[in-house]
Amino acid sequence: MSNGEPLISPTIPNTHNTSNQNLKVFKRDPQHRIFVNRGLHLDKIKFYGFDMDYTLAVYKSPVYESMGFDHLKARLVDIGYPTDFLRFEFDPAFPVRGLWFDKIYGNLLKVDSHGNILVCIHGFRFLKPHEVQELYPNKYIQLEDNRLYVLNTLFNIPETYMLACIINYFETNKEYSKTKTGVTYSNIHMSFKSIFQDARAAVDWLHSHGDLKSSTMANLEKYVHKDDRLPILLDRIRQIGAKTVLITNSGYEYTDKIMTYLLDFPEKYGSRHWTSYWDCVVVDAMKPLFFEDGTILRVVDTETGALSIGHHLGPLKSGEIYSGGSCEVVSRLLGAKGSDVLYVGDHIFGDILKSKKIRGWRTFLIIPELTTELQVWTEKKQLFDNLTRIESALSDIYKHLDSSTLERPDTSIISQKLRAVVHELDMSYGMLGSLFRSGSRQTFFASQVRRYADIYAASILNLLHYPFCYMFRAPAMLMPHEATVDHYSVNDVDSMPIVFRSRSSSDAGCDALASKRPREKSTEQAVSWPEPPLKVVHIHDDGDSEEDNSESSLSLHSVNSNCTFSPDNEHIN
Ligand SMILES: [Mg+2]
Repeated sequence: MSNGEPLISPTIPNTHNTSNQNLKVFKRDPQHRIFVNRGLHLDKIKFYGFDMDYTLAVYKSPVYESMGFDHLKARLVDIGYPTDFLRFEFDPAFPVRGLWFDKIYGNLLKVDSHGNILVCIHGFRFLKPHEVQELYPNKYIQLEDNRLYVLNTLFNIPETYMLACIINYFETNKEYSKTKTGVTYSNIHMSFKSIFQDARAAVDWLHSHGDLKSSTMANLEKYVHKDDRLPILLDRIRQIGAKTVLITNSGYEYTDKIMTYLLDFPEKYGSRHWTSYWDCVVVDAMKPLFFEDGTILRVVDTETGALSIGHHLGPLKSGEIYSGGSCEVVSRLLGAKGSDVLYVGDHIFGDILKSKKIRGWRTFLIIPELTTELQVWTEKKQLFDNLTRIESALSDIYKHLDSSTLERPDTSIISQKLRAVVHELDMSYGMLGSLFRSGSRQTFFASQVRRYADIYAASILNLLHYPFCYMFRAPAMLMPHEATVDHYSVNDVDSMPIVFRSRSSSDAGCDALASKRPREKSTEQAVSWPEPPLKVVHIHDDGDSEEDNSESSLSLHSVNSNCTFSPDNEHIN
């Protein structure tokens, strides 16, 4: 790597340099791939931490959400909501993860990373732009805990749809009179905030006291995906000398049932207890509290399910089950320091954001929706081609116009076509569009993924497709002026804009300065000069510490323990 230039530019085609034209960047099958936001050297990972629900145990969709929805409507009727609610049926085409619920106006909002509202739904009604503008000046809202609730997890999907169903029911039922912030029936006023609180409390009740878990445990095959590659993955992690750690918020009984189901393959792998796949198991972790103060670390009696009294002081033993604790205590007992932990979870806040921000763990986000998202991305190629054609037609209209143009060209037909294609594309994902975007704008969820997940994939089993010495490299994050300008386009000096700021001391006008700069270091110089660094200084590209990076920059040119580097096998995702 000379002059700090990467050997292969991952996303910018070098059309100027013909010698690079035949270079191919190998990419794995999209469904097997792990995507990269920040570089990660897998061979530096000594501890693989796993969440359980929706990470190891992937619930079958939509049957699991539908079951959760049915339990939720029964609970709401139990606490006094109309029995008509029992007629609600879960529609998987409606909800998408990551919406914000506005407790004041009762709206579900799809927002971008800055809080600009992309889509606004009241019940089942999509608000028109001028209606959104009336409620939210500049179609903008700030994320405030008192007002907004982020429906972040896959467990929130039934609740998202239930909130739409409830508000649609009250809005369309003539017996209820509507106000801006709720509904009134006889002498009762229900604010959207109180409706939300009831729904939220009902969901919490289902998870802690209701039949959700017992229904799941009674019919595991119906609700939970099982894959015989999971035991292989866990064994391979331990074979390379790394440790496997399970950290789940679920209790012991539920964890025991789920993990027994997931890891029990007597015909293939012999009779093995599920705990034999783990170096450490923590249940009742209470994430995200686990990453902050945590709770008391106790030992679970696996015969009775009872917890030991007092703090467990260690050591942590494989085969034992621990309850509670904190990231600090468990890390200390395991000997993990932070950046040598890769934590795999599906919860952007509880698993990923907190472990990254507070503990500096490397993070691997599981996004089960990625399979569908990639399917639309590839199967709807025709629509993306149409978008390109429309953009091309639009650029043709403006091609020969400049500031002297007085006649406004008619772009109404093209704008209509553009809106139609964008809408068709959005609907290919579901009624509320993609998890990651609305039209060309990225969602709040997408920005959280980019910010906090070092790597992400649809399944943890995608790890099976990479060697444990793998160097994950992030594609370059391009600004619009980099993404739309080819390297050769700005070589014509005559077309340079009139404002040109030189950053070279040898350019014209700077000769005097250049002549003052000493050619060799001298201790006698009265004025000191900055020296250009001799090697790469942007250490974030590899996501490692400075010390680690000096090793990693060497490994680009040399042979590391298991992998030989050459331009042909530099792995760019
Ligand atoms: Mg989870």
